[in-house]
Amino acid sequence: MTKKVGIVGAGTAGLQLGLHLLENGIETTIFTDRRPDEYAGMRLLNTVAHHHVTIAREDKLGVNHWPNDGYYGHYYWVGTPEPLEFYGSLEKPSRAIDYRIYQPKLMEDFAARGGTIEFGLIAHEDIEDISNKFDLLVVCTGKGPFGQMFTHDPEYSPFDRPQRALCCGLFKGIAEPETRAVVMNFALGQGEMIEIPTLSFNGMCTALVMENHIGGDLEILAKTKYDDDPKAFIALLLEKLKKHYPACAARINEDEFDLANSSLDIMQGGVTPTVRNSYARLPNGRLAIALGDVQAVVDPVLGQGANMASYAAIILGEEIVANHVLDERFIEKVDARRRDRVMSATRWTNYMLTNLPSLKPELVQFIGALSQNPKLADEFTENFNFPEKQWDCFSSDERVNDWIGSRLAPSAANDEQALAAAE
Ligand SMILES: Cc1cc2nc3c(=O)[nH]c(=O)nc-3n(C[C@H](O)[C@H](O)[C@H](O)COP(=O)(O)OP(=O)(O)OC[C@H]3O[C@@H](n4cnc5c(N)ncnc54)[C@H](O)[C@@H]3O)c2cc1C
Repeated sequence: MTKKVGIVGAGTAGLQLGLHLLENGIETTIFTDRRPDEYAGMRLLNTVAHHHVTIAREDKLGVNHWPNDGYYGHYYWVGTPEPLEFYGSLEKPSRAIDYRIYQPKLMEDFAARGGTIEFGLIAHEDIEDISNKFDLLVVCTGKGPFGQMFTHDPEYSPFDRPQRALCCGLFKGIAEPETRAVVMNFALGQGEMIEIPTLSFNGMCTALVMENHIGGDLEILAKTKYDDDPKAFIALLLEKLKKHYPACAARINEDEFDLANSSLDIMQGGVTPTVRNSYARLPNGRLAIALGDVQAVVDPVLGQGANMASYAAIILGEEIVANHVLDERFIEKVDARRRDRVMSATRWTNYMLTNLPSLKPELVQFIGALSQNPKLADEFTENFNFPEKQWDCFSSDERVNDWIGSRLAPSAANDEQALAAAE
């Protein structure tokens, strides 16, 4: 049976799904509002790191155009009175490409392989008409208002507003640490700042994802406009970095420090973490399924959104290929497969948003244990690929204690054995 699938949105979710469907001979049309040649002139969309499990999916789809631009782990800097600094390595490199390069490139791949792209802004009232042409309509228009066609899931949406005042930009003039890696900086009580080595138009630069606590000393960075006075903005940023993130500030060459390509390299605002029910039955009786940020949008502090979108896109693609009938049972099967990772990424991210500012004792103990034990730091870092494993650890205080205890116990036993052998 030939199936026809319509996808609204050409982000990571829509493009990876579309490419997977084409590979399996399914006629696929993507509807989107931006042409590939518009991206280079757009404001920064986000600052996305793809974990290596996502890169493996890109390899399989034949769209890993940047195999040598990855990073190898995470440095952690914690601003305790005596700062903690440690490193965790990844089993394979992860990677960040400016989405103004990544998304148009994958759109070109999709079109070159026979996919149809229709350009134009879609409105709610267009959805039913579009759905008439397809066996299934997938809605993946990102975190904008389109999501409202799917009902809100209050159980997994504990917030009604952003939990951080975001200021995110691409910068030049920041030296990389010894190993190419993400640097996660924690300014206790003030914010978190993630440095991501990112490939953009002028080559490698550093994305700074500043997750400023609302009401704190850093919040002003989300409110001060670079365009009003670029020099004043950079001076303010330098002052705040020196005060709250001194390890990063020490790597900055002040003569060079500025946005990496142009004044478009900065975005400010906030994300309200939200989960929505996964499908809607349209008035004409057809089904629309939510994918990517439309289904679950998270704050970027742990870099999970696009990685969950990619994971869910391929699962949806596999189930479209495997099911002759694209009905509620099909949706149940998609949900059973994507749910644990998507909901775990959501809950783990929300846990960190809440418990980092309040310095929850179990979390402080956890970070202390990582700083003392490189194997634990490696495991925690690798598990950014597997948010369900992080949620296995963080879903209760008992689990946090058990995670630390079970990993430290064998090595304690080994130490005792080594001591006995030495005696
Ligand atoms: C600052 C920041 C940093 C981030 N960092 C990370 C990270 O490190 N790692 C990570 O995994 N995630 C990260 N994310 C999250 C990530 O950007 C999103 O989760 C991901 O892009 C979602 O993909 P998507 O395909 O669902 O939506 P999007 O990528 O937003 O794509 C939506 C698509 O729909 C189109 N569209 C929208 N409205 C319409 C319309 N009305 N008509 C037609 N087309 C429309 C858009 O043009 C676009 O093509 C970050 C987000 C932000 C804001």
